[in-house]
Amino acid sequence: MLPYFPKKFVWIFSRKYIAGETLEDAIRVSKELNANGILVTMDVLGEFITNLDQAEENKVEYLNVIDVIQQSGIGGNLSVKPTLFGLLLDEEVCYRMIREIVARAAKYDNFIRIDMEDSQCTDMEIALFRRLKQEFPKNVGLVVQAYLKRTSKDLEDLMDLHSREMPLNYRLCKGIYVEPAEIAYKKYHEVNRHYLENLEFMFRNSIYPCIATHDIPLIEGALRLIEKYNVPRDKYEFQMLYGVTPERRKTLVDKGHHMRVYVPYGKQWFGYSTRRLKENPKMATQIIKAIFVKH
Ligand SMILES: Cc1cc2nc3c(=O)[nH]c(=O)nc-3n(C[C@H](O)[C@H](O)[C@H](O)COP(=O)(O)OP(=O)(O)OC[C@H]3O[C@@H](n4cnc5c(N)ncnc54)[C@H](O)[C@@H]3O)c2cc1C
Repeated sequence: MLPYFPKKFVWIFSRKYIAGETLEDAIRVSKELNANGILVTMDVLGEFITNLDQAEENKVEYLNVIDVIQQSGIGGNLSVKPTLFGLLLDEEVCYRMIREIVARAAKYDNFIRIDMEDSQCTDMEIALFRRLKQEFPKNVGLVVQAYLKRTSKDLEDLMDLHSREMPLNYRLCKGIYVEPAEIAYKKYHEVNRHYLENLEFMFRNSIYPCIATHDIPLIEGALRLIEKYNVPRDKYEFQMLYGVTPERRKTLVDKGHHMRVYVPYGKQWFGYSTRRLKENPKMATQIIKAIFVKH
């Protein structure tokens, strides 16, 4: 039903989760978060592209965002989805575009996170990361998904890129796409168990993990591992989505943990919002309330 909700009603709900339509909106929200001791990673919302001209336009926009982050003194970096740069159309062209973005970030000593998309992209996104990490060891990181059965092996296989001086930097999340049971854990407890196993692997090997979750048992599990391995505060961070569980976020920040918030913005907010709503159907009732309750 969600895609058929009138856009203006979806926006009533969505404005909590999206900085706005423009880069100025994202900068304003990022400055507010920075003022509360929270770093950001910005994401320009985009939908499936059908030709490489659209990929080129996305690249130009991302290069501009990196410049603006630098000029406005934002404490933050950028997340990119390779399909927006043509991963599924031409892998080599996509590599060249993202390489240009990472090179621009490296110029400012900043950082690009490669988001992980659905399983048709996993091999290609790992290969892309592998190439970029060799050229820009400090400026690029990858997302790994705990729900994928392959992830433990991927983590082992990527260890040749790791050193104490230039550690691997992963965002660990559960994974958001609907994947078949042959390749993905489906049950809540299974996914959580693998999440903590993957995280423990990272701490054991001095990898820099970004603990991306709002799930209380996982946050508590992560805190236990931080204590067990006596991990210093500057060797990991928590990450959450803009607008989701701000009170949980604050509790961690107040205890001195580093926190980074994923700040999406852009004209394509509708697709992002409907995905967030599908992920958490309880939120759909919020829309219905918003339709009837005047603010
Ligand atoms: C910073 C960040 C970056 C991410 N990047 C990627 C990526 O590159 N690739 C990818 O596949 N996935 C990504 N994800 C999504 C992730 O995989 C999960 O789908 C998502 O975080 C929900 O899982 P959870 O760990 O919060 O636990 P869940 O068990 O889903 O949620 C636990 C609790 O958190 C709260 N909650 C969770 N989600 C929402 C929501 N949308 N709205 C309101 N409350 C909510 C609820 O209280 C819920 O009970 C990212 C997540 C974060 C936080």
